Amino acid sequence: MKRIKYLLLFMMCLLLAGCTSGVNQQEDSTAIMTPSVTETVSDVEIEEAKILSSRQEEPGTEDASDSSQSSMPGRGEPLDSTLQVHFMDVGQGDSILLIQGEHSMLIDAGDNSCGTKVQSYLQANNITTLDYCVGTHPDADHIGGLDVIIYKFDCKDIWMPPCSKDTKTYEDVISAIQSKNYKITNPSAGGTYTLGDAEITVLAPVKDYGEDANNNSIAFKVVYGENSFLFTGDCEEEAEADILASGLDVSAQVMKAGHHGSDTSNSRELLEAAAPEYFVISSGEGNDYGHPRAEVLNNLRSMGIKVFRTDEQGSIVAVSDGADITFNTMPSESWQAGEPKGSSNSSMETQAETESSYEESESIQKRVVLNTNTMKIHRMNCSSVKQMSEKNKQVSSLTVEELKAMGYEPCKNCKP
Ligand SMILES: [Zn+2]
Ligand SMILES: [Zn+2]
Repeated sequence: MKRIKYLLLFMMCLLLAGCTSGVNQQEDSTAIMTPSVTETVSDVEIEEAKILSSRQEEPGTEDASDSSQSSMPGRGEPLDSTLQVHFMDVGQGDSILLIQGEHSMLIDAGDNSCGTKVQSYLQANNITTLDYCVGTHPDADHIGGLDVIIYKFDCKDIWMPPCSKDTKTYEDVISAIQSKNYKITNPSAGGTYTLGDAEITVLAPVKDYGEDANNNSIAFKVVYGENSFLFTGDCEEEAEADILASGLDVSAQVMKAGHHGSDTSNSRELLEAAAPEYFVISSGEGNDYGHPRAEVLNNLRSMGIKVFRTDEQGSIVAVSDGADITFNTMPSESWQAGEPKGSSNSSMETQAETESSYEESESIQKRVVLNTNTMKIHRMNCSSVKQMSEKNKQVSSLTVEELKAMGYEPCKNCKP
């Protein structure tokens, strides 16, 4: 029975197309994600998320009998409700939704292309208000979609580290926060919060890492009954070592991979201290950084830790009843490491990640409108765009310099 349920949910998850992997999907899957069929796919996603959430909220005959037959060791009495942890497939990035009863928390929202997908996923789970909206650190693959979420949902508390970044992506998030008159909370290590019946202990940042966004990541542990989950954003080994030195309890049954399974994070020391049974990697299929790295997978394998991966399995959903944790799919058995493209030097890698995220966000944000008849470049909001005939109008994400090289001229009024 249980195997059938896994299979069913797994097949539904295959339908969920990663929002940044449209091109790859197109080649080898029927779940095609191209700009022209975006609506259709997001409908499928909404349906799927509804099914997932309704299955988990079914006043449990089947689920209860399943968990009593579970091969996982019981840890106590199940609670009346559940804690759902959805590791959404957002390609190369993070976005995790926690639901406990009427309460919810969003940890990151993928990159700039993922805001509406995450929005749909939340709406499909009947969420209108987030108790916590967390931007773990200001990198684009974490906060890129957060502006959309902040505009569309009521957020009771917004968590971000005291670390800014000189990017349009970061500015957009701050503008969204200001437009709704929200204040930012900088949670500090050791602080405790509640999400319904779940308890949250903040583990990091332990100190200020200057402009090092990854190490400034907010990390915390969520405990529900006898079950526990660890989230460390993109903390690198330095921040991981500081968390361990702080003496806070990092032990957890489920650990989200630090920095998408990079070997600059997920140190053996942290893995041993956390001693998770399950490890969930949120990374993009065929990503440029070689995530997850072989060294990390080797450590996990030798320690007998079961691995789930969004790049192979789509969105991963873990449901805790306070005693046992059930996943929507079987663990991955591939142990397939990512293949880095370009330099394997890890500081170069981090640098490259930062820059490509930045470029991507810039190209998305700075789209211009071309008049292919007059060969003029306009800003989106230029008054002449409204008067332009549709057949001459073309939206472009090329830079003004690139367009000039093609013979276009910037409009003298809107000065793009
Ligand atoms: Zn990062
Ligand atoms: Zn990241």
